[in-house]
Amino acid sequence: MLKVLLVLLSLLAGCAQQPNDAQKLPEDSSFEVHYIDVGQADSALVLCDGQSMLIDGGNVADSDLVAAYLKKENIDELDYCICTHAHEDHVGGLSGALSVASAENIIAPKTGADTKAYKNFVSKAEAQGVPIEHPSAGDTFELGSSTVTILGPISESADDLNNTSIVLKVNYGETSFLFTGDAEYEEEREILDAGYDISADVLKVGHHGSDTSTSYVWLREVMPEYAVISVGADNSYGHPDETVLSRLRDEGAEVYRTDIQGDIIAVSDGKSVSITPSRNAGAVTNETAAKQEAEKAEYAYIGNKNSKKFHRPDCHTLPKESNRVYLTNREEAISKGFSPCGQCNP
Ligand SMILES: [Zn+2]
Ligand SMILES: [Zn+2]
Repeated sequence: MLKVLLVLLSLLAGCAQQPNDAQKLPEDSSFEVHYIDVGQADSALVLCDGQSMLIDGGNVADSDLVAAYLKKENIDELDYCICTHAHEDHVGGLSGALSVASAENIIAPKTGADTKAYKNFVSKAEAQGVPIEHPSAGDTFELGSSTVTILGPISESADDLNNTSIVLKVNYGETSFLFTGDAEYEEEREILDAGYDISADVLKVGHHGSDTSTSYVWLREVMPEYAVISVGADNSYGHPDETVLSRLRDEGAEVYRTDIQGDIIAVSDGKSVSITPSRNAGAVTNETAAKQEAEKAEYAYIGNKNSKKFHRPDCHTLPKESNRVYLTNREEAISKGFSPCGQCNP
């Protein structure tokens, strides 16, 4: 009887711990996302506990590069190969990947394209005898200790391939990563309307930083700590667009860019994420933000928008970045209606 009680108690204790996902991770668990530099295109490799998922493969011309990347990572078997949508800069290099690696599961939207790049992808899948699956929003699957949730597309219109993009979120412990393909406002809106939890620590910015994606309402729900833009240097589209960079600045997201920093590798321990670019780690990736940083250095005091107190920059009760007002001197602080903080007595 006592044994039964003890078992019951330990079961209950287990349940109580469940909200803290990190505690469920095996001791030798690992999780990485490699945002591969494929120029003006997209490709990301997710690795978890020895399992792998390739999301897009860049352009046809990137086939060898992506194949070499898989070889470098000792991957000859992909657990999941995902084509977010049928545009060449996403599906093109997947045929290269499927030439060097077998795939357990191949996933693409229902809408294909009558192009050589797409047809090559389909024939590689056929050659492997793996049917291309079309997921539904809400579907989930496991990749090692991480969970992948499909958020979109919710509806597909064949005349707008970007909005057929498979949007998915990967949860690992308490951390999460959002992949958006080239989804534009319309698809973002549909996913928001469906009520999915899209909050994520790392956002792969939609459509290479085009201003047709990453709307304010979308970004406010994602609230990313880090934003990765997969984009080619001096591309003819003007990506990433200044309006998107400005929205990312407003949200306080730290921006990483493949055009400036090459391959970008994010590592999660289940609690927090650290990001290492392959080059130019300290580069200016969001220029105006750097200018603002330089200007802040000139300020003497920091005001709190909410409490209307102003502080010395070394005060231990500084407000968070979004609630700060930078003030040049005491007179400015007083004239703007701020009163001195009782802790640091500015
Ligand atoms: Zn596209
Ligand atoms: Zn694209």
